[in-house]
Amino acid sequence: MGFFRWVSLIIIFHFFAATRVISDSSLSSIPTKFLNFAKNPEVSNWMVAIRRKIHENPELGYEEFETSKLIRAELDKLGISYKYPVAITGVIGFMGTGQAPFVAIRADMDALPMQEMVEWEHKSKIPGKMHACGHDAHVTMLLGAAKILKEHEKEIQGTIVLVFQPAEEGGGGAKKILDSGALENVSAIFGLHVAPNMPIGEVASRSGPLLAGSGFFEAVISGKGGHAAIPQHSIDPILAASNVIVSLQHLVSREADPLDSQVVTVAKFQGGGAFNVIPDSVTIGGTFRAFAKETFLQLRQRIEQVITGQAAVQRCNATVDFLDEEKPFFPPTVNDGNLHKHFRKIAGDLLGVDKVNDMQPLMGSEDFAFYQEVIPGYFFMLGMEDASVERLQSVHSPYFKINEDAFPYGAALHASLAASYLHEFQQDVPVVEVNHHDEL
Ligand SMILES: [Zn+2]
Ligand SMILES: [Zn+2]
Repeated sequence: MGFFRWVSLIIIFHFFAATRVISDSSLSSIPTKFLNFAKNPEVSNWMVAIRRKIHENPELGYEEFETSKLIRAELDKLGISYKYPVAITGVIGFMGTGQAPFVAIRADMDALPMQEMVEWEHKSKIPGKMHACGHDAHVTMLLGAAKILKEHEKEIQGTIVLVFQPAEEGGGGAKKILDSGALENVSAIFGLHVAPNMPIGEVASRSGPLLAGSGFFEAVISGKGGHAAIPQHSIDPILAASNVIVSLQHLVSREADPLDSQVVTVAKFQGGGAFNVIPDSVTIGGTFRAFAKETFLQLRQRIEQVITGQAAVQRCNATVDFLDEEKPFFPPTVNDGNLHKHFRKIAGDLLGVDKVNDMQPLMGSEDFAFYQEVIPGYFFMLGMEDASVERLQSVHSPYFKINEDAFPYGAALHASLAASYLHEFQQDVPVVEVNHHDEL
């Protein structure tokens, strides 16, 4: 190799080395920079106002029309382009270059069919509907992330996809977003959930299985109604249903591997209305949970066998419905190992390494799992409890409250995870020239 080629190689090497140093230092400054921006009262108060507006007008799955309108209005104000409608009420925003790599950050939008019992200025104005799972906060923090990222859009080395998703609470909105093809080029996705019993400024998650797969069932057990004092002329579905429930409890205790966590719960029992009448039929229903798909399918099969078989012992007929349409099976939420390392680094820079906790898997479930079946994904819990002020009730409680001071952390985490991901991983992903309006 000639002298001049060596010289030019050395120059090229130094040029790249210098670029790398600059990008490394700017990379580690992203989390603090973003958090400081989000903590700015102008930004944090803006988030609080958005959240209170959404909280006052809770909407159930696939009915989030006003929430969706509010999101689009804020994206318009920020000058962020988006696609709408996706999965009925969903909104997908785009920021950055419009080119690969693509990384997504997601928030769910729906409320629950329950009455809010917290008396405060911004209480739900819709009787029987409430944001009791914090999805109003999730939407707010994703908008907060959008605001942060807009301010630093020139630094985005790829495209950040903002996923405002409908119908998390049993409606499988995530699946509908995927079916729309909206996330086809996305190489990683991040999501969070507020955690009312974890201190504010802390986060928790783990690599691998985090939340269980979940399914529902409903069974109608039919006998023959009649006078309660002449049981020999009836076929009693109440007794049959009672035996079914007891037998279902043997599935986990006697058939499951004790080291493979599973749950079967019968939470619904409806039948009869009088003290002296044996009803014609009884309806029971419940949920079942497991961490592995095979275990889940096995459980599903045995639930059906036990219900029909045990009902027959009592001379009843039974039909079992797994509600595949209304309440589709949620797969287990399984976090990607590389994204776990990325999360620990970014959250550690943003909050301090001692604030990033490892958590045990939970039997709860999340439809974020649908994304993780096709895209490497990462889901984590965002603490919001300030014990010196008050203890917060768990999610789905009518007394559930949000600590709005957690918003800057959630917004900055979303923004930092996505922006740093693009910085770190852009070299590994082939650059595809695409117009994101068409492709995504
Ligand atoms: Zn929920
Ligand atoms: Zn939730």
